[in-house]
Amino acid sequence: MAGKRDYYEVLGIQKGATADEIKKAYRKLAVKYHPDRNPGDKEAEEKFKEATEAYEVLSDDQKRPLYDQYGFAGLDGMGGGGGGFNGGFGGSHAFHDFSDLFGGMGGGGFGDIFENIFGGGGGRSRRRSPDEPAQGQSLRYDLNIAFKDAVYGTKAEIKFQHDESCSVCRGTGAAAGSKRTTCTMCRGAGVVRQGGGFFSIQQTCPTCRGAGTMIEKPCSKCRGKGVETVTKKMTLTIPAGVDDGKRIAIPRMGDAGANGGPAGDLIVVLHVEPHEYFERDGQDLYCAVPVTFAQAALGVSLNITSLDGKQIEFKLPAGTSHGKLFKIKGEGVPYPGMSKKGDLYVKIIIQIPTKLNGEQKKLMEEFAKIENATTSPRCVPLSSLTN
Ligand SMILES: [Zn+2]
Ligand SMILES: [Zn+2]
Repeated sequence: MAGKRDYYEVLGIQKGATADEIKKAYRKLAVKYHPDRNPGDKEAEEKFKEATEAYEVLSDDQKRPLYDQYGFAGLDGMGGGGGGFNGGFGGSHAFHDFSDLFGGMGGGGFGDIFENIFGGGGGRSRRRSPDEPAQGQSLRYDLNIAFKDAVYGTKAEIKFQHDESCSVCRGTGAAAGSKRTTCTMCRGAGVVRQGGGFFSIQQTCPTCRGAGTMIEKPCSKCRGKGVETVTKKMTLTIPAGVDDGKRIAIPRMGDAGANGGPAGDLIVVLHVEPHEYFERDGQDLYCAVPVTFAQAALGVSLNITSLDGKQIEFKLPAGTSHGKLFKIKGEGVPYPGMSKKGDLYVKIIIQIPTKLNGEQKKLMEEFAKIENATTSPRCVPLSSLTN
């Protein structure tokens, strides 16, 4: 619990604050930092959790005295203040009934916001009314493409399955003429309550999944789910110059939304297959060309097949050292949406023969004699060898 702030400090109140002051202070913070008002804001979410945890303890007649006397240590093992909140809203931790806190604010007020958050543990399983629109789930599609296709662009046929709104019941899940009835398990509350004492645990109703209602007679086509799984085929245009790991979002091609909510997206993740000899770094291409000692010493004309199949003649100058990198301009990867291209780099690898035949050996010895090596091998700085 390192770095945890004092609960009174969190709520900005005095140690002797009354229950009413605690409630007021928390309400102010909760409204300000509520996740629904600060979507995606991690800091706000943390602040919200921190304030909720502080309120959870300070509003509790048993926990508050323990905290006052022993600090955080006094709450160990009690759940909640001792760390139970740190799991976020995704877990099934216990929480207070918030209806008394915001109960006086009437329908459509903050009570509703809190219902959403505290009704079912957040995320997809949170409580929503049966006709509230909700966006469908986004889907991921992994697509392998050839190295060359990533460079020059291509069209790819993709086949995937997604959920579409049921064509028979139009997404309601109910058979024609059938109505929604109040859930018998939770009697419409959407939540079921367990336990007692100072802690009351509330869970999303397992029968209606929090909707509070059930379908009288489910649609026979989708069996009440409101969606049907459909196989889709479409042609995807891959632009030139895309890199490995690139994501292409196809809007509204994910699963259907509920109650007229928008569908999710289809996210295509590209995986570029390796090339036979080219490697890619951004818009530049790299390859290696092995040459013999004699070719490096005397110079040679090299033929390089570019990525698009073009023959590029490249004159290797006499006296090229091992590892030297040559740049061939404009033979790299096109920049997306531009006529400009990166470059092609050719690395020269001098291969020393491991076996010499008699004649080669004789000539080599001959060569060594007239080479006029003025020094025997010795160490020099690496940087003096750049060629
Ligand atoms: Zn249906
Ligand atoms: Zn229910």
